[in-house]
Amino acid sequence: MAKNKKNDEPPPSRAFRAPDSGGRDGTGDFDIDIDITTIATDAMPIGPQSRDEAEAALTELGERLAVRQEMLYAQGTAGDPRRVLLVLQGMDTAGKDGVINHVVGLVDPAGISLVSFKKPTAEELAHDFLWRIERQVPRPGRLGVFNRSQYEDVLVVRVHDLVPEAVWSARYAQINDFERRLVDDHTTIVKCFLHVSRAEQTERLLARLDDPTKYWKYNPGDVDERGYWDAYQRAYGAAIGRCSTDAAPWYVIPADRKWYRNWAVAALLLEAFESLDLRYPDAAFDVAQERRRVRGS
Ligand code: AMP
Ligand code: MG
Repeated sequence: MAKNKKNDEPPPSRAFRAPDSGGRDGTGDFDIDIDITTIATDAMPIGPQSRDEAEAALTELGERLAVRQEMLYAQGTAGDPRRVLLVLQGMDTAGKDGVINHVVGLVDPAGISLVSFKKPTAEELAHDFLWRIERQVPRPGRLGVFNRSQYEDVLVVRVHDLVPEAVWSARYAQINDFERRLVDDHTTIVKCFLHVSRAEQTERLLARLDDPTKYWKYNPGDVDERGYWDAYQRAYGAAIGRCSTDAAPWYVIPADRKWYRNWAVAALLLEAFESLDLRYPDAAFDVAQERRRVRGS
């Protein structure tokens, strides 16, 4: 148990679970939009309350995560079909790349399948929006990481009217069906919305302009996207509200503090791995006999 974990604290999966919109349709699978602007971007509901504490806790979580991920990988080689999929979404500068570096980077890269979804290519656009996503679903034993995801097709696509409303509005249910199929196919899905404030985004964009080693991260187009901030917040509220299901819930990660964000994602991911009850596979051979064979060879 993490050193900082107080006994009366809810687990990360409860503390960060997206609020219920109250619009459940009875199946728990199709809620109405939530207003994410009412959710604090700097909250610290559980866990470490200072940078030092969080960094120490992250190191410890990383070690435990690495063991679990190795077990998943090992079991995958022994025919276990299970996999884990971490979905990262958030506004520009929210920290998707930071989480990949500081959290995903704590485990063995051999077991990770990392995919960044960019503007679709002509070939991708010729197919249904889930076509390119399905092709990148992690194989058994892997930790898949989606840096952006199927949700772009109800976020940037909705905000910029890239397809008619009739098309994007049908996608929430299509995404829920898709995720349901993945879960039925032995996938544990952890969907994190990295929630930053507009003021924090201002600081992070300016920091990129103040530091020549960060120019490469600065994209003038991101400033144009900022002009659509409110539309994006509404689109996120719809995506999270409508696609937070019991099979694949959304988590809202307060992301104004990078160290809290990293700790929170790591804690959620570890909880997901621990719920899988993983172990190292038994030997598929006679250990004593193999020992004799090694000595005698
Ligand atoms: P970045 O993640 O900063 O490298 O930027 C990737 C860009 O690709 C972002 O501007 C996304 O909004 C855009 N993008 C990703 N998926 C889609 C999509 N399905 N349709 C349109 N644009 C997309
Ligand atoms: Mg970007």
